Amino acid sequence: MATIPLQTRGLVTEASKAGYKLMPVVLDDMRPDEVLVEMKYSGICHTDLIGANGAYDYILEFPAVLGHEGAGVIRAVGSSVKDTNLKVGTSVILSFNHCGSCSNCNSQHPACCVNFEALNLGARRLTDKTTSARLQDGRRLVSQFFGQSSFLNHSVVSKYSVIPCPYPEDLAVYSALGCGFQTGAGTVLNSLRPTTDDSLVVFGAGTVGVAAIMAAKYLDLRQIIAIDQIEERLTISRELGATHTINTQHTPDFIREIHSITGGGARYVLECTGVSLFMEKMLECVCCGGCAVVVGVPKPDFILKIDPMKLLHENKTIQLHRSGNFPLEKLCTFYEVSNFDECIQDTRDGKIIKPILKW
Ligand SMILES: [Zn+2]
Ligand SMILES: [Zn+2]
Repeated sequence: MATIPLQTRGLVTEASKAGYKLMPVVLDDMRPDEVLVEMKYSGICHTDLIGANGAYDYILEFPAVLGHEGAGVIRAVGSSVKDTNLKVGTSVILSFNHCGSCSNCNSQHPACCVNFEALNLGARRLTDKTTSARLQDGRRLVSQFFGQSSFLNHSVVSKYSVIPCPYPEDLAVYSALGCGFQTGAGTVLNSLRPTTDDSLVVFGAGTVGVAAIMAAKYLDLRQIIAIDQIEERLTISRELGATHTINTQHTPDFIREIHSITGGGARYVLECTGVSLFMEKMLECVCCGGCAVVVGVPKPDFILKIDPMKLLHENKTIQLHRSGNFPLEKLCTFYEVSNFDECIQDTRDGKIIKPILKW
């Protein structure tokens, strides 16, 4: 059992837009409602990259450690943590944080927690705004990004971020379930709940988009249309369930193409890119009575304008993997933490879909 204070290391962002540096970090304290986790894998998500680049400067202070798709092993459990599944040595997946006491948390909607932004992007304890971590020179380090700051080798995380993983041997591919995979799959399985007669358009065949495509394939949808500008991503989309693909570089009039394939518009459109063009055009891609959903993160100053005349429309993953219906491993590419820069470059070049760091 590891004890606090603890010397560890992490990919630190010292200031907004300063990039990431592997640095020694000290964890000073752990509260009764927190858990100490030794990270084994850290998925990298778009939100980490834009967070380090200033997207959340209105609430996120630096120096900070980002990362919110952690997977690892529990090394210590706070005295008030009641979940008896959380023991020292348990393999866990980390997800977003929530307060556990607001009206939305109490009605089983933790993703709508009224303190979501303060907890996950502010990345400090809600009670007194402190954090456990500091740099060796004494500077405090913001260290509960999405409850976890999983770019730390060891991290003091919120108890609400910790989910036991019943299959430790596959921890590597499950690490990204904490954000990207669950966002895509969860939107289809839990929010849209399409039937086999429905059609789904997915803008952006990255982690979230391909997870949505796999979920739609599992539900045996009639038409699953993947849209991207990188051909390799469209190829893997077809392998994993897309019935049609549209490369916007070759087919700029994607709206006409969607209408042609679906016969008048798709029942569901899922926007996973954050690109303003797709958000502005998504309502033109759904049929009457259809539904468009945005999960992509737009640029901070982007305001979506909607023409009311066009507004005719309103708006279980591990077990699926075990049964072969959610082949996550086909999306994951692993890198040693020391090769972080190469990993980021490959991500930016669109060579890989889900980058995961190995500690
Ligand atoms: Zn994410
Ligand atoms: Zn809450």
